[in-house]
Amino acid sequence: MPLSRPQLDRIERMKIDKLSHNQSVVRLPRNPHEAEKRTRAGRSTTDQAQLSNELDEPTSSRVASVIGGLQESSTPEETTAEALVSKRPVHFTNSRGDSFDLALRKGKTDGDLTSYKMTLDGQSVDVKLGSQYKHPKVLGDLADYYSEIPEHLRPGLQEVELKSGNFRRHKHYDGFVPSNTGHVHLDQGAVKGDGSLSRSLFHHEFGHVLGNHLENQEDGKLENFVEGAVGEIGPSRPKAFKGAYKSEGSPNLPGNSAGSNALNEEFADGWQTYLDARLDGGEKLQKFTEKYPQLAGVYEEIYSTQSRSHQA
Ligand SMILES: [Zn+2]
Repeated sequence: MPLSRPQLDRIERMKIDKLSHNQSVVRLPRNPHEAEKRTRAGRSTTDQAQLSNELDEPTSSRVASVIGGLQESSTPEETTAEALVSKRPVHFTNSRGDSFDLALRKGKTDGDLTSYKMTLDGQSVDVKLGSQYKHPKVLGDLADYYSEIPEHLRPGLQEVELKSGNFRRHKHYDGFVPSNTGHVHLDQGAVKGDGSLSRSLFHHEFGHVLGNHLENQEDGKLENFVEGAVGEIGPSRPKAFKGAYKSEGSPNLPGNSAGSNALNEEFADGWQTYLDARLDGGEKLQKFTEKYPQLAGVYEEIYSTQSRSHQA
């Protein structure tokens, strides 16, 4: 029996999914915003605003019925809404065209904060969101950005908290990572006018988490034990970074804290900029590598090397 047109289309899509999943070089679509635009344009009946924050029962069934017919081309926001409603892992395609299994479990609400556990291909991160934000939208962006972190580095990120007035002591920050932790704290400034989360800020803050994580791996057991009691001792970035950074003439690297020359900030800015270039893979990566050959080498090793603690 010959295959119908929809069946053929589905098989073609599966092939593309598989291809883009296995070969990081093949990324569809190229423009991170392209997929979103395309699916939005093709779907006039979907009212994005109807994906309410809390997803009460009537909303749940509406979302489920809307999404039921759109499984092949959902935005991250719709996919997270579907994951919340179905309480089962769903197929998640990030804005670069790579595919993952995504599960979201809603936990308790404590005061203004609602807890979620987000699991992407078996790796989990805790998320806490203030009530004023569009939860499916923020969760969709988080899943998208989290999926861009290389798999072996994701365990460093343990928690993302977004609430306004998060920084009483650090009022001028939109994001903050306490030393020696894998906890990203975001404030209102991390969210744009349309309710979306800043990709660059997320990756900058993850750069701090990464610095903490790598520095701890380099520390001996005794130092980590002491740091567990008194807090981080010394700068939160791997040793190799300092040498490479100095040999490049201590540049003020582009990134979310481009105004600061503190080594920790430079490490986070460098990671943010490198990751953006690495995911782009083309001219951006070439430019970064030409301008900062030593730093590119340090970040390339971090990006592509399985860390010691995850090899066993
Ligand atoms: Zn920073």
